[in-house]
Amino acid sequence: MHVDILIIGAGPAGCAAAISARQVGLRVMLLEARADTCRAPGETLHPGIEPILKKLGVWHDIAAAGFYRHRGVWRETDGIRIFAPYGSGNDGEWLGFQADRRTLHGILQRAAGEAGAIFMPAAIPSGVIRQDGRRGRIAGIIYKGSEIRARWVFDATGRRAWLARMLELRADCPGPPLRVRFGWKNGRDQCLQGQPLFQQHISGWEWHAPLGDGTTAWAILDHPFERTTRERSNSTAASMSGRGGGRGGDMTWRLHEPVAGPGYFLLGDAAALLDPASSNGVLRALMSGMLAADLAARMFRGGDEDSAVQAYIHWISELFYRQTSSLLETYPASPKKRPSA
Ligand SMILES: Cc1cc2nc3c(=O)[nH]c(=O)nc-3n(C[C@H](O)[C@H](O)[C@H](O)COP(=O)(O)OP(=O)(O)OC[C@H]3O[C@@H](n4cnc5c(N)ncnc54)[C@H](O)[C@@H]3O)c2cc1C
Repeated sequence: MHVDILIIGAGPAGCAAAISARQVGLRVMLLEARADTCRAPGETLHPGIEPILKKLGVWHDIAAAGFYRHRGVWRETDGIRIFAPYGSGNDGEWLGFQADRRTLHGILQRAAGEAGAIFMPAAIPSGVIRQDGRRGRIAGIIYKGSEIRARWVFDATGRRAWLARMLELRADCPGPPLRVRFGWKNGRDQCLQGQPLFQQHISGWEWHAPLGDGTTAWAILDHPFERTTRERSNSTAASMSGRGGGRGGDMTWRLHEPVAGPGYFLLGDAAALLDPASSNGVLRALMSGMLAADLAARMFRGGDEDSAVQAYIHWISELFYRQTSSLLETYPASPKKRPSA
């Protein structure tokens, strides 16, 4: 088996890369660990995502999915709550989406398949193929004991960062250790008037997003070094979820280095992980997938690989360090460590 691009992980980053690469005629294979999509956080999408979804050819399906739309975000600091609308243009008010991730992933995966990508669900690679020994170019992966060779391998496995771990890439973590818990609760919060709320605390935040179906998604971040806040958040989470604290995960900011190299690109969260307060994880994932596919197409037409790799590293790291700098300002209690680039 030989393809132009082998993509591991069919979340937003992997699907965007697959669709974009197929739009320019490259042969694409997409492996996804899960057999079906599961409920995941990350529903809130900024209206600025619309042109990206149009470029990927999924706008019609997204608009038809009936996702709940919201006008802006409540922001609360020191007990003062202010509504920040997204704004408006000639064609009316700009609206964000509360996109159920199962539906969003389903739409993107279907579009990748319809564009001609070979989509393999329930498929997890077991090893990496390298040319010329241990430090050589990435040339494919091993799946069920067979080789799948590719000109480029894209790691779109999200926080798991499968290829980054296989290659033992270094991770730069320019902030404090962070853990996020999340869940869904029944019932509308009348005070929110159907709009999401971002509540800033001295050492963490809470996010509440009404989904328009009588349920509200919530996420909580607290700094592990701030004991009193953590205890407070634990009890808040328990009371909100009604199930004792919800699911959770490590969301320490992390940039893998290098995010691209001979034969490989890391996309989305696998490349650069930020906590959800950055509020644009899905957008960054889609854009990184589209950019990596575009660079692969240029290389396919004879462009220089080293320039493409450098351009990608620059784009990802510039975005990452700009966002970590602004996030550091919002966590006044965190022990500040300056970004290393
Ligand atoms: C609590 C919480 C709230 C969030 N809220 C928002 C929000 O409101 N708005 C927003 O824009 N972002 C939000 N985010 C961030 C957003 O979810 C991510 O940034 C985004 O999903 C990253 O997309 P991705 O494609 O890189 O990875 P993922 O969406 O994680 O997709 C990775 C895919 O790879 C698959 N995979 C993993 N390992 C393997 C393997 N070994 N082999 C094959 N497949 C594999 C997984 O099954 C998955 O389908 C939130 C995150 C959290 C944790």
